[in-house]
Amino acid sequence: MNTKGSKKRLLEFLLANVGRIVDSKDLYEASGGASEWGRRVRELRDEEGYPVLSHKDRADLKPGQYLLESTKRRPAFRRGISKETRAVVLERNGYTCQMCGIAAGDQDAFNPARTIRLTLGHIIDKSKGGEDTPGNLRAVCTNCNEGLQNIALPKPARIHLLAQIRRATIGDQRAVLEWLQKKFSTTGNTNRPA
Ligand SMILES: [Zn+2]
Repeated sequence: MNTKGSKKRLLEFLLANVGRIVDSKDLYEASGGASEWGRRVRELRDEEGYPVLSHKDRADLKPGQYLLESTKRRPAFRRGISKETRAVVLERNGYTCQMCGIAAGDQDAFNPARTIRLTLGHIIDKSKGGEDTPGNLRAVCTNCNEGLQNIALPKPARIHLLAQIRRATIGDQRAVLEWLQKKFSTTGNTNRPA
């Protein structure tokens, strides 16, 4: 899919619907069926300064709903997150979505042909003054980031977690062991709590 083409189509669609709430299905279709439409919308917002609002900005918007508030562009944000910061945060979070717990490379439940990709989310949103610093960033999967799943699972209590693992099949226990070994064997790993 041509990136420029899908972004241009998304912008034209948003401009034709300024002040009107659109949803992710509309945007997906407007983009010409681009799998990366969410990323293109974020680029329009973060790099080109179009005020595209989501449920993170306005309480009356539901997850998956978007609103181009006006045609007036803000000065584009600087593209702040460096490769180094990204690597530090992903490593700290064990390459795992800090909202739903899914890991990079797991199968994507919303699109079984794809695997999960992680992106960085702001703990305090940029619109509320949050910065692009490692302390304000966490790994989130693209589904959580786009509000496709409206869940932030509470962290499981240790006693329940261990009980689940004890009940799991040997194969699943081995998978847990392998994942933990991988997580804790990386050099210089300083896994601080998420
Ligand atoms: Zn997630």
